[in-house]
Amino acid sequence: MSDLACYAVSIENSRGRAVAEPAPVERSEFQRDRDRIVHSSAFRRLEYKTQVFVNHEGDLFRTRLTHSIEVAQIARGIARALHLNEDLVEAISLAHDLGHTPFGHAGQDALNECMQKHDESDGGGFEHNLQSLRIVDLLEENYGDFNGLNLCFETREGILKHCSPQKARGLGEVGRRFLENHRPSLEAQICNLADAIAYNNHDIDDGLRSGLISLEQLAGVEAFAQPSEEVLRKHPEIAGRRRIHETIRRMINAQVIDLISETRRNIACENPQSLDAVRTAPPLAAFSTAMHAQQRALKIFLRDNLYRHYQVLRMTNKARRIIGDLFGAFIESPDLLPPQYQAMARENCHRAVADYIAGMTDRYAIREHRRLFAVGEI
Ligand code: MG
Repeated sequence: MSDLACYAVSIENSRGRAVAEPAPVERSEFQRDRDRIVHSSAFRRLEYKTQVFVNHEGDLFRTRLTHSIEVAQIARGIARALHLNEDLVEAISLAHDLGHTPFGHAGQDALNECMQKHDESDGGGFEHNLQSLRIVDLLEENYGDFNGLNLCFETREGILKHCSPQKARGLGEVGRRFLENHRPSLEAQICNLADAIAYNNHDIDDGLRSGLISLEQLAGVEAFAQPSEEVLRKHPEIAGRRRIHETIRRMINAQVIDLISETRRNIACENPQSLDAVRTAPPLAAFSTAMHAQQRALKIFLRDNLYRHYQVLRMTNKARRIIGDLFGAFIESPDLLPPQYQAMARENCHRAVADYIAGMTDRYAIREHRRLFAVGEI
């Protein structure tokens, strides 16, 4: 890691961990963070959590786990090219979705709705970014000396992508940038955009695989149409999976290269000489204007044609009902909760129920719903 840029996060400029620990042997502090994330139970649960398609709908669709691995792969490549801290980027990428509920965004919306109704001391509501931070700061129970994973400040800062000012006030140092309108590290900025590159492309891939969207529809989407024509010029006979993969790999490549060169340009223009200079500068990691417009069009296409497809909406509707039912049952009778959550519920009942539900995998939530509601099940 000796070729880090002067504005990259390093061991020297890191704000360290909340609980001081001896320095790791034969690995960096950020490698240790990544390792703790990979060994957490929240990370293993990602395997059975929905990205767009519910986990049991097909073995080849992305899950939160494969999504997170794709984000890490894309973000690491960008970080290396820009001489940023690759270990930190990997840690943030692998942890960025730990707080997601079962059933993807539908699950989050349902849980948020349930939590809005309660005037909580912690401001109420449910948001997956905040939940990811809650998991690594508090909920994981693996270590003798602290709750959570005791990660470095910069890893935690990268995990907390968005936050309302009201919530930020309760988060201490890691929430402060939202009140001061400062940026996170370039490593965190890169992870954010790598997340978008990963899901836009794999949702196109999964959408085509599922048959809910078609190649004909995508002919009108510039980000897809351009590389698709190039593939057909080079391989006039190509069809099926090969055609899709050849197109999508070109899309990812074009987006990554665009992001690297535009970010490089912004860095040259702003000329930050330290990590603190990155925090007070405008956002430096960015797509070019043309690529940004393409990405936006791609997002709108996915929203209108995949995320709002009636077959996806049927699933999200069912998911909302499952989450709502579970929430209602546990709030009414907290003694139905497993013992460790009952202890938490004595402090803050709604938050304990939200923590329990958010931690469920898709199939666990379905099973738990059946156990609580199906007549004839015990
Ligand atoms: Mg993500």
